[in-house]
Amino acid sequence: MKYDFDVIIVGAGPAGAILSKILAEGGFRVALLEKKKREHIGYPWEITIEKKIFGRISLKAPDGGLSPESPEYYRFFAENRNDYLEMKSEDDAIYYFYHDKLNQYLISLALKRGVHFFDQHDVGELVLSEDHACGVRGERKILFATKQFTMTAKIIVDASGTNQVLCKQTPDDFMIRTPIRDEDWISAWQEVQVISPDKISACKKTLSISPGIAYLQVGKYHAYQIIHYRRDNTLNLVFGASRGKNIPTAHEQCKEFMEAYPFFKKQLYGGGKNLILRRSLGSMAGNGFVCLGDAACQVVPTTGSGVASGMYSADIAAKAITNAINSGDFSIKTLWDYNYGYQTKRGAILASYDIFRLFLQHLTHKEMKSIFDSHLVKDSNFISLYSSNKIVYNIQQIFENFSTFISHTELIPIGVQMVQAIRDTQKILKLYGEYPPAFNINHFHKWQQQVNSLFLRYYPSKKK
Ligand SMILES: Cc1cc2nc3c(=O)[nH]c(=O)nc-3n(C[C@H](O)[C@H](O)[C@H](O)COP(=O)(O)OP(=O)(O)OC[C@H]3O[C@@H](n4cnc5c(N)ncnc54)[C@H](O)[C@@H]3O)c2cc1C
Repeated sequence: MKYDFDVIIVGAGPAGAILSKILAEGGFRVALLEKKKREHIGYPWEITIEKKIFGRISLKAPDGGLSPESPEYYRFFAENRNDYLEMKSEDDAIYYFYHDKLNQYLISLALKRGVHFFDQHDVGELVLSEDHACGVRGERKILFATKQFTMTAKIIVDASGTNQVLCKQTPDDFMIRTPIRDEDWISAWQEVQVISPDKISACKKTLSISPGIAYLQVGKYHAYQIIHYRRDNTLNLVFGASRGKNIPTAHEQCKEFMEAYPFFKKQLYGGGKNLILRRSLGSMAGNGFVCLGDAACQVVPTTGSGVASGMYSADIAAKAITNAINSGDFSIKTLWDYNYGYQTKRGAILASYDIFRLFLQHLTHKEMKSIFDSHLVKDSNFISLYSSNKIVYNIQQIFENFSTFISHTELIPIGVQMVQAIRDTQKILKLYGEYPPAFNINHFHKWQQQVNSLFLRYYPSKKK
């Protein structure tokens, strides 16, 4: 078969843009397809990313102008702003960026490396030849008209974010298509507002906040709320909420918060979307096919941060794709190295976070509050589950010590569940360490069954 490209990547978000750059540097003919106009790519929110990811993929971080003001301290609380766990911001471990500016920077690097970029190309269909992915079909905009297009390549990549436009169409034997449970969706919203500082002082009784500090409330339904009072007289507001009946969306919660206070003057920017919070898809590769980033559910389950994971997996996927093309074997057998490389390292740790995310998600507000009030958890280790600075397995250390339970009898039921969750995180790490190193359907199915049965106890609906 004669192909138009070596690789077609669908979606020019951070994951797709960085993978296209790495592959083009390797000398491959890469097409990057994106449904939006070039200048509209990226989102109007801010992101934090582990700095070390940039070193891992030998990427120079962009110079100034791309970063908002970062907090000096974080204060975590359940109900009362004055009863908090405090953490100094670890600026040396984290980059703060505007998502859209970072995304544009990554696209410009890809273009410099010779990536063939097609914006306003809305991909709708995965083209298969026998049991291999070999192309995409879609519509492209030309002025006011739309035209059908078809492109072919040796390897097709889905980096379309939570749309998962191609993953959803993969045949059963790719073992990629996975129904996403309601409990695994959240809505997230962020906006930055200019405020009147004198009016903030007047509200001290109901909202006591100080410049330089980000206040992070962890609440029921895994909801979170971050209010960062910046020294430039703006408020950075971040809201997240599980999806479900009678649960206001993150945007609704943000609006409700703003309606309660008179100090907001003008929105500088803002936006949000629904995110999938869960462990990554069990397999992220098929014959002639790979997926990564939000499309492969690679976000940090406790925070919803996905940019670093997309970059990390781009590095591993690029190696597997390079081997596949160089060897002339684009089948799942060669691409499996991507699965193995990701799942046994970052995938394993994020799966352990996912157990803990599900455990926290089912706590009532009262239970969450009692955990904070009793100082049952060690500050830094618990908080690090909500931070992007370094993704390491540290769940085991989050207790000050188990004897705390004895002095807080009302915490025993939660404590029992917590101990179970911690045990399960260890089991999950072990299971991910046993991820099949080579493609073998039976081994993979056995592995996935074991993982699914461990997770099942954290889903009350237990269907699917
Ligand atoms: C409020 C909020 C705050 C966040 N904060 C952080 C944070 O602090 N740190 C962090 O790491 N992450 C954060 N995230 C998550 C982060 O935005 C995502 O994880 C990240 O953007 C995922 O990158 P991606 O490249 O996989 O997907 P995306 O960035 O979603 O990119 C996918 C691209 O594919 C394109 N596309 C989709 N469908 C098609 C199609 N059919 N044809 C062609 N193109 C298509 C889209 O237009 C888009 O450009 C936050 C998210 C929200 C909502």
